[in-house]
Amino acid sequence: MSNARALLDLQETDQQLALRRRAYRQLCEELDSEGGIPELKKALERARVAELELKVEAARNDAEVVDLKEKVAKLEERLYSGAITNVRELTAIETEHNTVRRELARADEAVAPSRLAAEEAEATHNRLKQELADREKEWTTRSKMLRKKRARVGSEYKQIGAERESASVGIPATDIEIYNALLPRMNGVAVVKVDRGVCQGCRVRLPMGEIARIQNATGLVNCSSCGRILLTE
Ligand SMILES: [Zn+2]
Repeated sequence: MSNARALLDLQETDQQLALRRRAYRQLCEELDSEGGIPELKKALERARVAELELKVEAARNDAEVVDLKEKVAKLEERLYSGAITNVRELTAIETEHNTVRRELARADEAVAPSRLAAEEAEATHNRLKQELADREKEWTTRSKMLRKKRARVGSEYKQIGAERESASVGIPATDIEIYNALLPRMNGVAVVKVDRGVCQGCRVRLPMGEIARIQNATGLVNCSSCGRILLTE
């Protein structure tokens, strides 16, 4: 078996390793994300605070209405009791009465929207609570599966890595060096076959006589176009 052939086998092994490495990293990333639960928890906390604030606001508004109604009643009692005869005092009370009534109208108008906002915030909070519970349940199952898968990919990687060690035995160290240097530059494809005179790496037709040169060469021959190691049948 030529060195190029041995390197091609090594490359297949390296591609298998790269696939597992990628899969392992993706599994780690998904496990790290925890199914979006941390973000959901933050959103839930924001919804909880919003509900609380809007409920306080609605209650404050309700209390203000009660308070203003009392004030209006008291002012009206004074206005129409007949006890105040001083015109200036009467005018002052009338002015205050108008002001308080305007405030009451404003507070009254805010009651319904304020309650509605509080109800909506409560609904949002409850919806998120349910969503989090569902997500956590789902994640328990999924994360278990992901961890199992990661362990399997990890042990496959180890096994293939051990096979790679033995596969590289017998290949000259200088050839391995050339291959190792080419691999990352060539996107994981450092060794390619020549099919009907065409480099399968860059699809460029090799110059006349090149095939014979490859076949007769004792060392590795690189494609003059893309630089990959060539293998002829
Ligand atoms: Zn090429």
